[in-house]
Amino acid sequence: MSPTNEEWFARARRVIPGGVDSPVRSFAAVGGTPYTVVSGQGAFVEDVEGRRYLDFVQSYGASLLGHAHPAVVAALREAVARGTTFGAPTPGEVRLAELMTTRVPGLEQVRFVSSGTEAVMSAVRLARGVTGRRRVVKFDGCYHGHSDALLVAGGSGVAQLGLPGSAGVTAGAVADTVVGTYNQVPELDESVAAVLVEPVAANMNLVAPDPGFLPGLRAACDHVGALLIFDEVITGFRLDWAGASAHYGVTPDLWCYGKVIGGGLPIGAFGGRADVLEALAPEGPVYQAGTLSGNPVATAAGSTVLETVAPADYQDLGGRVARFAAGLEEAVASAGLVARAPVVGPLLGLYLSREPFDLPTSFAGVRALADNGLYRPFFHALLDRGVALAPGAYEILFVSLAHEETLLDSALTAVAEAARVAATAS
Ligand SMILES: *Cc1c(COP(=O)(O)O)cnc(C)c1O
Repeated sequence: MSPTNEEWFARARRVIPGGVDSPVRSFAAVGGTPYTVVSGQGAFVEDVEGRRYLDFVQSYGASLLGHAHPAVVAALREAVARGTTFGAPTPGEVRLAELMTTRVPGLEQVRFVSSGTEAVMSAVRLARGVTGRRRVVKFDGCYHGHSDALLVAGGSGVAQLGLPGSAGVTAGAVADTVVGTYNQVPELDESVAAVLVEPVAANMNLVAPDPGFLPGLRAACDHVGALLIFDEVITGFRLDWAGASAHYGVTPDLWCYGKVIGGGLPIGAFGGRADVLEALAPEGPVYQAGTLSGNPVATAAGSTVLETVAPADYQDLGGRVARFAAGLEEAVASAGLVARAPVVGPLLGLYLSREPFDLPTSFAGVRALADNGLYRPFFHALLDRGVALAPGAYEILFVSLAHEETLLDSALTAVAEAARVAATAS
């Protein structure tokens, strides 16, 4: 008999802290033992016990086409056979940069890094370098990776574990980070280098920007000469064909990317106007570097994803997700609970409650709903029925292009049953 999830996780815990390499993967918020994945195919993952799950985690948004898409696998085989890293420029990074910059209005140049964290960290350094200012404004509940200065008031795993920030981050490191309330345009002054925002907040469950919020940030930044940074690590090339800036018609000064643009491999990128980006070394005084940056394997996978997805696919996926969201709300209502499943393009949130409620517009409202005790039994009852959501109420559901309508429909029976379990369990 091959080892069970319990056995794998026990082994993991001996040699990896908490048994996981990223806290969101732990079951700290929902209890129990994580399933250990051996493979994925399209909308499904399979664990070490041979159980299959309809997967709404999709690597927290890194997967847009679904797991092991044949075009991506073929591109990877080809790229790997040519060698995996050289420490010299490669055609692959040029191709991916061209794909991104031709698609996103205003994005003239990008520099690749190896994670979203690095992308945001580097964009902030660049903003400080070009403005000569120190303060950065972020918003409560937005997650921008785990760099010291940006861990304060983070969503995702930081929220899930109930942490205000992180031990090991000095007061000095966060002294220039100012935290605002999502959907409220803050007062800025001339000490502000940049305003950093998730254009759709997708690490505190899902919170859409109010119509005036992003244009308001643009105007506020222009007023004091601060740079506006869109963290599109989730929304980039997922929200739609050209991401959130094009979707909302608001052009930031800098963009941060990750997740989708690596096609499932480690990557990040930040970019903007050429006159801003030229402040980076070797042209300019802002230093930034990486041994594996622009990696030929990661950029091959990313380019393949961007080339495979057509504008119509986003419309199609958005429609599918909207119908699924309505189905989710109905299925949960059939158990006497209330669900609201906000949708922005193909991004899908899910809030559960016993009473009718308004959709939250900022982190405080999200937190009250996330802490009502319903998610934990709902999550486990769904997992038992072969449907995997993220193990925490602050994550959104990621629906890939491989999640066909019939698969989504089939999940609704499990959702109704899980809602019945949650209604009686908590
Ligand atoms: C995931 C994420 C990051 C961090 O990316 P990593 O690749 O995990 O370092 C940054 N910003 C947002 C909005 C994210 O969702």
